[in-house]
Amino acid sequence: MNAPATPPVKRPAGRGRNLELPEHLKAYKGVWVFIEHDRGHVHSVSWELLGEARKLADKLGSTVGAVLLGGVDEPLEKFAAEAFSFGADRAYIVHDPVLKGYRNEPFTKGLTDLVNKYQPEILLLGATSMGRDLAGSVATTLLTGLTADCTELSIDPTSRALAATRPTFGGSLLCTIMTLAYRPQMATVRPRVMAMPKADTARTGEIVQDTLGMVETQIVTKLLDFIADASGNTINLPYADVIVSGGKGLKNPENFKLVFELARVLGGEVGATRPCVQAGWVEADRQVGQTGKTVRPKLYIAAGISGAIQHRVGMEASDVIVAINTDANAPIFDFAHYGIVGNALQVLPALTQAFAEHLSQHTRRAA
Ligand SMILES: Cc1cc2nc3c(=O)[nH]c(=O)nc-3n(C[C@H](O)[C@H](O)[C@H](O)COP(=O)(O)OP(=O)(O)OC[C@H]3O[C@@H](n4cnc5c(N)ncnc54)[C@H](O)[C@@H]3O)c2cc1C
Repeated sequence: MNAPATPPVKRPAGRGRNLELPEHLKAYKGVWVFIEHDRGHVHSVSWELLGEARKLADKLGSTVGAVLLGGVDEPLEKFAAEAFSFGADRAYIVHDPVLKGYRNEPFTKGLTDLVNKYQPEILLLGATSMGRDLAGSVATTLLTGLTADCTELSIDPTSRALAATRPTFGGSLLCTIMTLAYRPQMATVRPRVMAMPKADTARTGEIVQDTLGMVETQIVTKLLDFIADASGNTINLPYADVIVSGGKGLKNPENFKLVFELARVLGGEVGATRPCVQAGWVEADRQVGQTGKTVRPKLYIAAGISGAIQHRVGMEASDVIVAINTDANAPIFDFAHYGIVGNALQVLPALTQAFAEHLSQHTRRAA
């Protein structure tokens, strides 16, 4: 995010003005995405980023690269084929025993070595636990700039630099950050912020195999075992198709059960605003918004939610937003597709009953 303390090149004078890219950095070309995978599954944020990388590369007249690091027995070539279908032109693959299971040191070396060798001008990672950990160490090792948690990526028409937009000042402002005098330009983006691209299975690409050059004894972190989350946490808000969310307008945790009821009947997930999480009404994993999860469901029902900007940024990309609020002037009605001015404590049970009846009739007819 910030310029490094010891830049590799002398920073031209003038903040934000006349920042000419140093000659030796002009060779950097291409938009890369780090493909995150774990136990045989690629994280969907990687495909979302490939869709975005494709758009950026097309604007630059450039190519898209997918980086895949993993153990010797991991199906990186299969993941590469998927990456091609989502817009990659080339896949950079490194298989090595020390790359089985994520650890910061070998992954930082693998990614920084590839960047130094093939010189992409843009490098994107998901703002997941792994992506955040890796992006920070790669940016500091490469002495380049990193913009975290971006909500929009574009190409600045004047400088052809990556214009990375993210919320600032508690979400009240959006700022656009450009890394003008360093390469690659790095950014992380949270899952579901970008739309999932359509796969084109006819697309193919080139595979570039590389090596790591690191042995186990050089790595201080040891991976002894994988133990699944003991809480059995199955909340998957970002990828839910239907979300029913509740806010402070529900008054107390007892009333919040009405949100769970409607979500159950619709086969959806339950979301909440930050004050509900802070009050201990629901788990932190249910928080939607700037400091919670970003979601893109087909249907988002917001009950007793005012529609503050910090909540809005996490859910406004939903296909259909239905808001229930007693206050006809609540900000949520400015961006909801359907609004019900009414008491959520009455509207929620009425909707639950109506959907339950409708769905049971539908099931009877289908039987
Ligand atoms: C740095 C920062 C980060 C933040 N991050 C997040 C975040 O990630 N997610 C988030 O949600 N918030 C976040 N917030 C908080 C945010 O600013 C708002 O305070 C919060 O979203 C408001 O929650 P709410 O809508 O539940 O409550 P309120 O703003 O209190 O709104 C309650 C609404 O319910 C309506 N209402 C009252 N009674 C009823 C009823 N019986 N039936 C129907 N409607 C009723 C009211 O008219 C009102 O509109 C953040 C704030 C800061 C400063």
